[in-house]
Amino acid sequence: MNASLSGLHHVTAIASDPQANHDFYTGLLGLRLVKKTVNFDDPSAYHLYYGDGSGSPGTILTFFYWPGQAARGRVGAGQMTAISFSVAPAALDYWADRLAARGIAAERRTRFGEVVIAFADSDGIPVELVADAADRRAGWAQAGIPAEYAIRGLHTAQLTVRAAATTEELLVREMDFRLVRREGNRARFEAGPGGSGRYVDVIADAAARPGAGGSGTVHHVAFRVADDAGELALHSRLALAGYHVSGVRDRNYFRSIYYRERNGILFEIATDVPGFAVDEPAAELGTALKLPAQFEPHRAEIEAALPEIHPAGQGVGG
Ligand code: ZN
Repeated sequence: MNASLSGLHHVTAIASDPQANHDFYTGLLGLRLVKKTVNFDDPSAYHLYYGDGSGSPGTILTFFYWPGQAARGRVGAGQMTAISFSVAPAALDYWADRLAARGIAAERRTRFGEVVIAFADSDGIPVELVADAADRRAGWAQAGIPAEYAIRGLHTAQLTVRAAATTEELLVREMDFRLVRREGNRARFEAGPGGSGRYVDVIADAAARPGAGGSGTVHHVAFRVADDAGELALHSRLALAGYHVSGVRDRNYFRSIYYRERNGILFEIATDVPGFAVDEPAAELGTALKLPAQFEPHRAEIEAALPEIHPAGQGVGG
């Protein structure tokens, strides 16, 4: 049994409009909607999960929805500041054309020897597609995007902090990450077997404006452990190191603990088990509104209050 942390599990961000967000991530970027549920702390709002065909750990991006101008946040220090996905190097031109056809401004950069296409999502969250020839994950190829160009899953978690030492120390001492390399003010760490989906980049920027939570920002990043025993082992280590760690929360598809690293970024440890097929068949993931048991008696009111989400439009360029 392996009780170690082995990489990224999911990223959760906040958007203003579920339909626009759904169209962007499923229609334009070709992720699969793997779960349609509500915020377990506020069932009047959706919680949508996107990922590969089965919602594999390391491919999952989820959104809460906070509508209205007043709920807007600001991307900055003390946050995960970009959502990075991995694609095959041969896919970059395809994606550049697809984004251009939609009128989405994108720029190409090179970092750690990898070519990156950077743009922003429908709420202004920075999104990147990183070319990685070594990523063998299949992605989701039934969204109208050729299989060889499909997004493979998450690439790295980019954490922008004003003082990197405590964040780096936490990753290495308590969370099973090891330093891969440094370039300028950016340090890359990896866990488990390494590679895409198992990286964290810590960006040290003492002058960065602090971020503010709200729509258009990442809410938290979740790291993966195989099972409950692994989660409890991490809980003990973190608590011994002085972190204030929540009790275990049952999220239906995984079980989680939460804590903040010293620069204020909310971290979660989530189990690989039981996964997204626990309450609907794998072939039907994301097609029906799924509610946790405590909300089932209120299904009719909850459904009536939620806006309908339509499938992303066909023929979306590219
Ligand atoms: Zn989470």
